[in-house]
Amino acid sequence: MERRLSNGNWIPVPEDQENIFLDQAVEDSARQNRYDATRYPLLSRSEIRSALSSGKEVRHGTDWYESLRNAPVRKPVPEIEKTLCQCGHRIAKMLVMNTSGGTSCPDCYDRMSE
Ligand SMILES: [Zn+2]
Repeated sequence: MERRLSNGNWIPVPEDQENIFLDQAVEDSARQNRYDATRYPLLSRSEIRSALSSGKEVRHGTDWYESLRNAPVRKPVPEIEKTLCQCGHRIAKMLVMNTSGGTSCPDCYDRMSE
């Protein structure tokens, strides 16, 4: 979970502090609910959690920046698939070359082609 600072930056919320901010968001939903119950439903902690996990930002205070969100998922860098060539070197699959002597890495290409 992340929260926004007044400068607009998002910072991670330590796990042991998540409930503090969730409770603030519960309070804020109650505050907004008193203001306009038709537009702002009363939210529980778990409803806020599920709103966050569906990608929504949830307010936890009265200032514009006081919002919570789930940290964006960073895509893991795919591991390059490696393969053992017949020259004896293990290299990325996309770099494998075919020679008369079998598969080869670029460095051994000339030797393997003889
Ligand atoms: Zn090689």
